[in-house]
This record gives sequence, C-alpha cells and structure tokens, in this order.
Amino acid sequence: MKKIAIIGGGAAGFFTAANLGKELGKQTVIFEQSPAPLQKVRVSGGGRCNVTHACFDPRELVEFYPRGKKELLSVFHQFQPGDTMEWFESRNVPLKVEEDNRIFPVSDNSMSIIEALMKEVEKNQVEIRLSENVLKIEKKENHFLVHTKSEVLPFEKVIFTPGSSVKSMDILRNLRHKIVKPVPSLFTFNIKDERLKDLMGISFEWSEIAIPQFKLEAEGPLLITHWGLSGPGILRLSAWGALELNKANYEFSIRINFIQQDKEYCIDFLNELKLEHAKKLVQNINPFSFPKRFWHRLLEVCKIPVDLTFSHLNKQQIQALATELTEGIYQVKGKSTFKDEFVTAGGVDLKEVDFKTMESKVCPNLFLAGEILNIDAITGGFNFQACWSEGHIIAKHLESIN
Ligand SMILES: Cc1cc2nc3c(=O)[nH]c(=O)nc-3n(C[C@H](O)[C@H](O)[C@H](O)COP(=O)(O)OP(=O)(O)OC[C@H]3O[C@@H](n4cnc5c(N)ncnc54)[C@H](O)[C@@H]3O)c2cc1C
Repeated sequence: MKKIAIIGGGAAGFFTAANLGKELGKQTVIFEQSPAPLQKVRVSGGGRCNVTHACFDPRELVEFYPRGKKELLSVFHQFQPGDTMEWFESRNVPLKVEEDNRIFPVSDNSMSIIEALMKEVEKNQVEIRLSENVLKIEKKENHFLVHTKSEVLPFEKVIFTPGSSVKSMDILRNLRHKIVKPVPSLFTFNIKDERLKDLMGISFEWSEIAIPQFKLEAEGPLLITHWGLSGPGILRLSAWGALELNKANYEFSIRINFIQQDKEYCIDFLNELKLEHAKKLVQNINPFSFPKRFWHRLLEVCKIPVDLTFSHLNKQQIQALATELTEGIYQVKGKSTFKDEFVTAGGVDLKEVDFKTMESKVCPNLFLAGEILNIDAITGGFNFQACWSEGHIIAKHLESIN
C-alpha cells in the first residue's frame, strides 16, 4: 500500500511530487484524469511558460494577488521567485528575465519546464496514473479512500491539486470544506462604442483606467480589440474586481485617462497649443502622438471639423477634447477571454488552511495547493509561483515528519 495520493497532475501536483525526495516519492501516486499531465503548463505563456516573476521581496510580491495576499506572505517567506529560478536553473533550465520582469525559460518553450518536472518526478520514483479520474475521497478514521472508476485505494495522506474544476470542489464539499463561489478572473471588456469602432489593433503605451462604481483603478498599456478593450490595465481591473464585476453581471462603466494628466492641465495645454499653432489644422498636430486614426476619431467625436485651425478651436471644443482625453466614459457590456488565458477566483476558503504546511484545518492529512484555493493573481507568472511555493511547502513538511 502506498502512502500518499496526489490528485491532479498539473503545476501544483507535479511540483509537490518533484520535491518529495525518493523516500516519499516511491510511496506516492499521482492521479491525472487526462491522458497527458501538465497540459496547462504546456500552453501557458503562449507556449513559452511565464514561469515566475522577478519580484524577490515577499511583501512586494503579495501585492499582485487580489485574493490570497495575506496568507501568501508566510508562504513566500519560505519559497519565492528566487528559489523558483534556482530550482529550475540547477536542473538545466536556464531562465531569462524580460523587460517587464516576467521570467521565461531561455528556450522560449514550455517543454523545458515540463521535462525538468517530469525528470525530477521520475527520479523520485513517483507513480503516475494517467486517464485516472478521481471521483470521490472518503475520510476514514486513520486513512482516506480514493475512488476512481475502477478501484478504491487507501492512502494515509492526500494532496489535492486538481485546479479549479467544479467537480473537484464537490469532492471537497463532501470533506466538509467551505468553497467560495468560483468566478472568472483575467478577462477583457466588451464595449460597443462609436469611439472605438474599426480601430481594432490600436494600442496606447500607458493609460489610467477606473471603475468609479467599485472604486477600482489600474494603469498600464491598453489595446483596442474587435470586441472592446484589452491589455494589462484591463486585465488588472478584471482581477481586482472579479467578484464585484460578476455580481454586476459584467455591466458597468469605466473611465479612461489616455494622457495621465488631469483635465485642468489638459485644457491649459490645449490653450497653449492654440497660441503656438494658431494657423495649423488641429487634425495635423496630434500633440499626444496617438495613432492618427484615433486622434482623428476623437476630433470627430468632439465635433471638430477636419479643416479647423487651432485659432478657431472654441472653448466648448477644448472642453470636450479634454474630457475625452482624461475622463472618457465607456459602457462595458460583457466580457471575453484573454487569449484563452484565465484563472478562477474562488475555491477553498483560506481560513480552512494552515499556510505553514498547506494542511487542511477541517480535514487533517489533506493538503491543498494551486488553483483549488481561493488564491489568484494578475498575469505575469504569479499564478505559477503560488503553485510552486505551496507545493514546495507541502513536500518539505511531509519530508520533515516522515
Ligand atoms: C491558457 C493559459 C495560460 C496560462 N499561462 C500562465 C503563465 O504563463 N504563467 C502563470 O503563472 N500562469 C498561467 N496560467 C495560469 C496557470 O496555468 C494556473 O494558475 C495553474 O496551471 C494552476 O495549477 P494547478 O496545478 O492548480 O491546476 P491545473 O494546472 O489546472 O492542474 C490540475 C490538474 O488536475 C487534473 N484533475 C482535475 N480534477 C481531477 C480529478 N478529479 N482526478 C484526477 N485529475 C484531476 C486536471 O486534469 C489537471 O491536469 C495560464 C492559464 C491558462 C488557462
């Protein structure tokens, strides 16, 4: 009889198994419902796998997690991105830090990460059972019974890392866990607006975006898509507002500042331009270096004719232009998935987990890691980092009590 069952062969399950050592490894079985493990790692980061983020201070790092911030502080004090880098690099996976601090394998291929994990799990002699769906887990006095379609197997300890499927949440409910309702995070906003029509592909280096109704603000690059708006600023808002936006049925308004200056400053600036370029056509100046099509669209919206010179720009037109530039309001109706990349907010209530060991407080000898927990982050490698850190903690704890 083997001692440990890992349910789910994804990032969290494999990293736990990869750190168990041989002694525990050979007493461990990974159950994975699909014919191949680590499928999300394979497609992650557009096939490149954004494995972690170059942020090495746990207090700064937790700021990227809309849910789990408080609990992850102690977790990252034990294992943080620097440790992740060392772990993979010492296993012949050189990593690189990109300009925006995201970290990828130098190979730009997620297979490098998968192969390193597989190799380590094989070295630890962990048994991997593919196409084995765990249907139920029963808690007995001193052990668990793990039910698959064909077998019922006893284990002393269960490490539960099945990601965010609804079925896996039901398994935990049966073990008396409280589940915070799962809702999507990391999505783009659907907006039908004449101001954005046919401008798909236009991007802005930096914008400030707010959802006044929920007092949410974010900044970053912004992109006009076929459906509305995307880009890091929008994704951050979708993560921080995941719960409120779900409650609002994804209908709300956003306010965009395209120039990171307030309206008064913008009015003064446009009045200065009026003096400086009196004889020039407003449409030819484009003072904020926007893509031409967008500048022309703004002028159209503000009823500024194509043949108007700056000297003829009136007070109302300046007001209207400054409003559009610094506090344009757009109505969002619905959401879309970002490049198929999404995470789920919600999952196991964090009060029910001891973050020193990742053991359940409700069901002793059950350990939890990865997306099944009510923890999620914005894009940038943070979601995997939570999986690596939690998995490492479980493995080291089990080794220490073995
Ligand atoms: C397209 C995409 C790209 C992403 N890119 C990045 C990125 O570059 N960087 C980043 O940090 N994050 C990224 N993420 C998020 C990241 O992939 C997840 O946060 C992470 O995979 C969660 O790991 P996990 O082990 O908890 O769950 P998963 O990776 O979902 O693994 C869970 C595994 O458990 C199995 N399973 C489920 N239920 C059962 C059961 N009952 N019995 C047996 N097996 C079961 C599933 O088949 C699955 O293989 C991306 C997400 C997506 C969708």
